[in-house]
Amino acid sequence: MSRIYRIAIDGPGGAGKSTIAKAVAKRLGIDYIDTGAMYRAVAYKMLENGIKPGDEDKLRAMLDDSEIDFSGGKIFLDGKDVSGLIRTAEVTRMSSECSAVAAVREKLVQLQRNMGKSKSIIMDGRDIGSNVLTDAEYKIFMTATAQERAKRRFEEMQAKGMPAVFEEVLADIEERDYRDTHRELNPLCRAQDAKELDTTNMTIDEVIEYIISEVRKNGDC
Ligand code: C5P
Repeated sequence: MSRIYRIAIDGPGGAGKSTIAKAVAKRLGIDYIDTGAMYRAVAYKMLENGIKPGDEDKLRAMLDDSEIDFSGGKIFLDGKDVSGLIRTAEVTRMSSECSAVAAVREKLVQLQRNMGKSKSIIMDGRDIGSNVLTDAEYKIFMTATAQERAKRRFEEMQAKGMPAVFEEVLADIEERDYRDTHRELNPLCRAQDAKELDTTNMTIDEVIEYIISEVRKNGDC
């Protein structure tokens, strides 16, 4: 039987982590864990219940009473599929705020560590290689310039028929970069043993092939 291995993908928002991780998971036949979606699910529930990031007691009680799970590529919050509901601008903003709260990070990091215990997975986020799965067999830190990431997101929104102004998309990306790298708890940073991959001039397929070739080199696929 082949060994269990974990692939940790980190990087700033809009670097293409989830698109790439999803495709790699499919190719390798392993599970994909989108940790950003978990912060978004918490943010969604906070908004639904009118809980602010500073309401420490209410927030802890809410977290104790929350179940977050993945199944068939969808995320379930307390048994309900919230995959579509967590992609609004309001949830995006709140997820960035709540991800700086200790109670939220403690709960989600523990869940994430458990998910990587019994099966091979690819997990993406901001602190996977540096904090959640420090002993992951593969660590990639994926970057691209803010301009390029904004361009990709802008084009994606346009393709979906969503109204978008490029300057606003860029400003949003820069603001989230700042918050992700400057928060006190588990800020976005490259783990010392992570390979940095600048995808500014790479196609999606090239990035996927690079990761698969790393796994193949070690005989894991
Ligand atoms: O990746 P995504 O944009 O869906 O993440 C939503 C929010 O969750 C981000 O603003 C980021 O700050 C936070 N996050 C985090 N740690 C992770 C994954 C996401 O703090 N491992």
